[in-house]
Amino acid sequence: MTEPSPDLPLAAPVLRPAPERLRAPSWADPDARPEPGQRCAVCWGRWFWCEATEPRRGWRCSCCHPPPGTLAVEEIGTSAAPSAMTAEAGAAMAEAQITTRSP
Ligand SMILES: [Zn+2]
Repeated sequence: MTEPSPDLPLAAPVLRPAPERLRAPSWADPDARPEPGQRCAVCWGRWFWCEATEPRRGWRCSCCHPPPGTLAVEEIGTSAAPSAMTAEAGAAMAEAQITTRSP
């Protein structure tokens, strides 16, 4: 019973963001901008915002911590470029197939 059955379907690996791509729903460093491909670790959202003017208090997920309507904000979407996403998803799938397939 220690060997996994090769017949069991595995959860699709591409649905879950890679751990290194997850960011906290908020962080205090305004200079640590969210980068393409990163997502909120809580809701997997792709939009983050920060005050547009001083005092800039850091970045927040636009879904978990929506910006107040009274504030000028800078908002960044982190959707990766389609070509980069495709290559990465392809590599992830290839790797998953190698590690999960039984001969
Ligand atoms: Zn979020």
